[in-house]
Amino acid sequence: MSEKSPSKHGEGFGRWFDWVIDAAEVYDYGRYPIKGMGIWRPYGFKIRELVLARLRELLNSTGHEEVLFPLLVTEDLLAKEAEHVKGFEDEVYWVTHGGLEELDVKLALRPTSEVAITYMEKLWYQSYRQLPKKLYQVVSIFRYETKATRPMIRLREVTTFKEAHTLHESFEDADRQVSEAVDVYSRFFDDLGIPYIVSKRPEWDKFPGALYTVAFDTLMPDGRALQIGTVHHLGQTFTRAFEVKIYRKDESVDFGWQTSYGVSDRVIASLIAIHGDDRGLVLPPRYAPIQVIVVPIPSSDEDETERVWRYAENVYERVSRESGFRVEIDLDREKRPAEKFYDYEIKGVPVRLEVGPREFREGSVTVFRRDLFKRSTVKLEDLVSTLQDVLADIDKRLKESAWRGFRSRIYRVSTLDEAKRHIEEKAGIVEVPWCGSDSCAFRMSDASGGKTLGTPLEVTDLEGLKCPICGRDAVTFMRLARTY
Ligand SMILES: [Zn+2]
Repeated sequence: MSEKSPSKHGEGFGRWFDWVIDAAEVYDYGRYPIKGMGIWRPYGFKIRELVLARLRELLNSTGHEEVLFPLLVTEDLLAKEAEHVKGFEDEVYWVTHGGLEELDVKLALRPTSEVAITYMEKLWYQSYRQLPKKLYQVVSIFRYETKATRPMIRLREVTTFKEAHTLHESFEDADRQVSEAVDVYSRFFDDLGIPYIVSKRPEWDKFPGALYTVAFDTLMPDGRALQIGTVHHLGQTFTRAFEVKIYRKDESVDFGWQTSYGVSDRVIASLIAIHGDDRGLVLPPRYAPIQVIVVPIPSSDEDETERVWRYAENVYERVSRESGFRVEIDLDREKRPAEKFYDYEIKGVPVRLEVGPREFREGSVTVFRRDLFKRSTVKLEDLVSTLQDVLADIDKRLKESAWRGFRSRIYRVSTLDEAKRHIEEKAGIVEVPWCGSDSCAFRMSDASGGKTLGTPLEVTDLEGLKCPICGRDAVTFMRLARTY
């Protein structure tokens, strides 16, 4: 057993996160000899796989098609969209040599894929009949981050970048696609129990080249907002640069309209950070590599231990046969039950079945819930139906509790003092009535110590509210928070 774990809440969150991803064998960070690059370990890889499976299911069922583009992009391709390259040029890794020879054209490790995909779209799509086209890929992207890096949150190699790129006949259809993407991501985060707020990012913080950007933010336990997903209406910025011309239904020819949207490793960081506790991971059952673990408990009598072992195997077989859950049994005879309990608790296995001499004699099983840290004993014949109820209840409870915590940290305020106090003391997201002027937003940010996240997609309840900077009528709310 290792020393006591750090507390998840408040200032200790960073240490807790580093501890939990290591102790649960999710992700190795800081030991590989390149800064900002981490390693998914087998258990973490399985969580990642389950998360991606859900995302693929949501994308595939809404007409998205998966593709795989090369990692390298030529310098002239990146340079073609001047506005775009401006956004990334300080952050690009360059490949300058092939073997000992210097390359004629420098190659970039993709920082994102708008230019690569648009380049090929010109060759593939010419008619409105082929549209809308929705492509996505799950790949590594590279950014030479100069800020302090953090495991899964700020990396130089983002290993789980799911980027979607869509092409449309009209502005309106691309606009509709933005809504569809927001809906897909909402369902995805809902399913993971990751609470979020959706904001239209301010002009000065939109994606380079985009008409507008919509972003999902969640809150980490230390009260800082984390951007977990973005959706961009790209307009015709890239299709103009690459001359992607589309024959429209009315027989006119126009450049295509695009959107792009992405999520990253941060989704898994949020899953871990939001549900975990001071004992380790807590996973919603759908994303738990092991949903049920059977742990036999030996008796002081050797013969009885053998009978308990066989009984535990029966329990295991019954659950795997009848429930469809991912169930495992730990038959290790060297390890003490207490050590096993500790390990599966750190790994966030939602339910543990304890099977000892008493359970064997009674024909029962003790069911332990990781989320509530509670035990109950059920008859073997009721076990499968009990497990179905318990796992469904864990899922429901985790989601409710995450959303409750999140909502309680969104503060609608009317003065800058209140905004500053909430951001500094309680930590969360504040919503301040805003007149719409950039300079007022910058002053709000300076005065409160929060970064501008943007505005709600729909605004109500503005009656009589004034911008606290200039005193004019508010047209919306500006959201501010400390961020990652
Ligand atoms: Zn103002």
